Amino acid sequence: MPGEIPGDGEAWQALARAQFPILTAHPELVYLDSAATSQKPQAVLDAVQTYLTTTNANAGRGTYPWANRTTELVEQARERVKSFLGDPAPGRSTVLFTGGTTEGLRTVARDWLTGHLTDGDEILVPFADHQANLEPWLEAQRLLSERGTEVRVRPLPRQASGDYDHRALAEAVGPRTRFVAATHVHHVYGGDMNVHRIRAAVGAEVPICLDAAQSVGHLPIRLDDPALDVDFVVFSGHKTLALPGTGAVWARNTRGPALRPVGWQGTPNTVGVVSLLAAFDWLDAVGVDRIAAHVSGLTSRLTDRLRRLDAYEVLGCPASLAAGSALPAAQRRHSIVTFRHRDIPSDDLGFILFSHGFMVRADSLCQAGADEKEGSVRVSLHVYNTGAEIDRLLDVLASLE
Ligand code: PLP
Repeated sequence: MPGEIPGDGEAWQALARAQFPILTAHPELVYLDSAATSQKPQAVLDAVQTYLTTTNANAGRGTYPWANRTTELVEQARERVKSFLGDPAPGRSTVLFTGGTTEGLRTVARDWLTGHLTDGDEILVPFADHQANLEPWLEAQRLLSERGTEVRVRPLPRQASGDYDHRALAEAVGPRTRFVAATHVHHVYGGDMNVHRIRAAVGAEVPICLDAAQSVGHLPIRLDDPALDVDFVVFSGHKTLALPGTGAVWARNTRGPALRPVGWQGTPNTVGVVSLLAAFDWLDAVGVDRIAAHVSGLTSRLTDRLRRLDAYEVLGCPASLAAGSALPAAQRRHSIVTFRHRDIPSDDLGFILFSHGFMVRADSLCQAGADEKEGSVRVSLHVYNTGAEIDRLLDVLASLE
């Protein structure tokens, strides 16, 4: 595959990292905020530049070569999204491009869900995940109510570790449960939310919509795997190495009516779509499985050592677990570790870390229902981060004990 990076381990990682010009330009800084947005490899920047300087035109309109090429690229990107997600039936599924996860979830809520619920139906949605995965469902409920259809929104039950409470979930499911919205990897705890257990609890017929903002590009996603039997996958391109204002909704279209564009579709974000196509090509060439292994290794290194520092509380880690012991496999984190210092307010800790060159997120992290005042510090990683960066961060955190 073009752009494939040979080798393994540190040599492979160094080659991958070297392809991010912003990082090479700022060796004094350490970017630890990839859950907010990712950095972009040269291949993505090149694809955008080439497109804009060779064939920039509108898509789906015009019959001259640039317009045809743009239409072709958008369709190619649609198929690329399907292949990147391991879609088992690309002839049947739909991909709609959106501005990001928030717009994607709203699209599913407004354009699909509101058309399929009747009076007395119930939907289960996460009340303590990202705000973007709560508001659209509440909005759908409001829209339906205005039309005289009352549906009940019930919270997906959860445990203190951040994972859903799958036992309680089975009890929350009833004969009127028509839809579940869930998260793949939690944006605060970094845990895999075990969607196969949600499928087991709700049965084979209920559509599940997966907010995959923090998993696409981080974990290999195979929608042909029965363990990932979901109906919608929604993600943001900008978190997966493409440009901001880019994202997609994938719909399997096997439970209930198909997801189709509603109304007149204006000009798509052609540049963003081109960047997404390039990002997925780059990720496949580098290997999402290798990225997952590298990033999960760094995440465990950070979590396990941080839990040994008395001054810090790592969010979502059970207090019952001995400080020095590694997290059980089921609670391993992917790319995200969020913590608080016992005495230093989180925004101050954010400033202190930046004075050492570390860029982290320090606030309430857009978590639905989170206490704005309490805040926390989130470190989030991608392929370009290194073990040396994690060790330096840990040294600074240890010096603040
Ligand atoms: N869902 C999750 C889990 C997220 O982490 C985020 C962004 O941080 C979003 C949704 C919203 O994504 P966007 O701002 O790209 O719409």
